Amino acid sequence: MKTFRCKLCKLKCNDKIDSHIIPRYIYKWVKDTAISPYLREAVNPNVRKQDGETKNQFLCRSCEKIFNDYETKFANKIFYPYVSSNNVDYEYEEWLLKFAVSQSWRMLALEIDTVNDQLAAKLNKILDIWSDYILEKRENSGLHSHHLLFFKRTPDLPTNKEDYFCERAIDGSIGNRKSKIWIYSKLAPVAVVSHVKPLKFNGWRNSLIHKKGRLQGFQLVTDNVFNEFFIDRINFYINSHKKITEKQNKKISQAF
Ligand SMILES: [Zn+2]
Repeated sequence: MKTFRCKLCKLKCNDKIDSHIIPRYIYKWVKDTAISPYLREAVNPNVRKQDGETKNQFLCRSCEKIFNDYETKFANKIFYPYVSSNNVDYEYEEWLLKFAVSQSWRMLALEIDTVNDQLAAKLNKILDIWSDYILEKRENSGLHSHHLLFFKRTPDLPTNKEDYFCERAIDGSIGNRKSKIWIYSKLAPVAVVSHVKPLKFNGWRNSLIHKKGRLQGFQLVTDNVFNEFFIDRINFYINSHKKITEKQNKKISQAF
């Protein structure tokens, strides 16, 4: 078997496997709770995808397991409780920070080739710092701050596209605007955002993930640069959704 160098542990390995950029259970939740199983949702407007789920092969089996362990903790302790109860009050330990860093690591590793070489070189250094933290070679994830956002959920399925995007879209990218840089991963009704430059943005309240702590209530983001970016993501989603719906309508009308 051909060997490759794992992007996390940097060792030469021969057990390259498919890894998801966004945890698989998020896709499953979106599909299982869709209005109609026959309509595909535009869950993934930007992240490059394969079979509807974005995957990449840059990890060895043992590194993938490290990521999976944190994803499972997040699923059981926050994601599923939130979608079933709308509770936004959770005590957490360091696993949450590790999960957030590993989520941003995956997104950054996937998207790094979309930025120019100079920025990629800087971001690669951050990837190395985050790798060391995930592999427990260092005690902290550097000076960058990592944030968790809950999107408010409507009692039934949302009827307008903006709410639909907030609750159900899976999305992610490197944000790079007005000299600010961040890594954004949207896991349907929650998002992980890592601030890269500056290390912590102004106007983010109640979102910072510590090594240990308690999430209490919803977050408030009054950061115009991020908010404009987020509105653009919604519009991008609405436009790509429109295209998909047009295609589907055509197919449906051809079926009769
Ligand atoms: Zn590895």
